[in-house]
Amino acid sequence: AKKGGGSVAAYDSARDDASTDQLTLLAELREALAVDDQLVLALQPAVDLATGAPTGVEALVRWAHPRRGLLTPAEFIRPVEHSEQLGAFTRYILDKALAVAAGWARDGLDVPISVNVSARSLLDPRLPAEIGEALRRHQVPPRRLVLEITETVVMSELEVIDEVLGALRAMGVQIAVDDFGTGFSSLTFLTRVPVDELKVDRSFVIRMADSPEAAAIVRTTVGLAHELGLRVVAEGVETAEQRLALAELGCTAAQGYHFFKPMPADKISTVLGSLLDS
Ligand code: C2E
Ligand code: CA
Ligand code: CA
Ligand code: CA
Repeated sequence: AKKGGGSVAAYDSARDDASTDQLTLLAELREALAVDDQLVLALQPAVDLATGAPTGVEALVRWAHPRRGLLTPAEFIRPVEHSEQLGAFTRYILDKALAVAAGWARDGLDVPISVNVSARSLLDPRLPAEIGEALRRHQVPPRRLVLEITETVVMSELEVIDEVLGALRAMGVQIAVDDFGTGFSSLTFLTRVPVDELKVDRSFVIRMADSPEAAAIVRTTVGLAHELGLRVVAEGVETAEQRLALAELGCTAAQGYHFFKPMPADKISTVLGSLLDS
């Protein structure tokens, strides 16, 4: 927008541009969902801090856009979450992730795959049946699938998603709370929704060394997870110092550039194979 002149008009036209961009993006997404090679998964292992063995692998979507280049979720997830294509997007990602997990099963690798699921897609009561069908089609046991959800978005529609998550969990699918501690109602959330895993947000891991508050939050989250019989995974571990500090706080598993950066599907089996052998 130009400086001076009518600032209101400038603001409005900037906003129009932004929404036109989003509409174009969503039209392009429709095309991407119809082909096989545009939405791809980057895969990042989490490891056991004591043994180095993989405890799971998280699938992170990338969009290999034919004109815009490689897009990260920050560049497109928001509009997708608020569009009517969210359901199709979620099913597409789950299908890709289960195809990857099916390949591991054929290679004899017993490692769960974690998929990020927008809380809004948990409002669809058909989701459990669709996931059940996809698990059978790929012949992946339900316990090898972990759905990562972020608690903040979820609180408002807890009643509905309670049922959807309950049905999924009854099937044997696992549930992880992503970015744990960043929402305003993390603790209430835990009393309402049955979960299997907490993921300690990267913001606490980063500040742990110089913030006693951040360190206390990590220690308390780890203790809470142990008390409730849940797994706990620290996110975004970048240094050996953070790794040691986490181990001292009792954390058992972690994920981050210090161990592995997200990698393409064709690399991951080799990495998992060598981690499980060693
Ligand atoms: P998240 O679930 O909290 O994922 C962790 C993010 O941190 C990922 O960014 C990952 O690449 C990055 N990361 C991992 N280790 C490190 C580290 O050591 N240092 C730093 N600085 N970053 C690290 P990414 O892939 O850009 O994803 C961003 C967010 O987008 C994710 O946050 C998740 O909320 C969302 N997302 C990713 N894939 C999907 C998807 O398939 N569906 C949906 N609905 N959301 C997704
Ligand atoms: Ca996640
Ligand atoms: Ca996270
Ligand atoms: Ca995070």
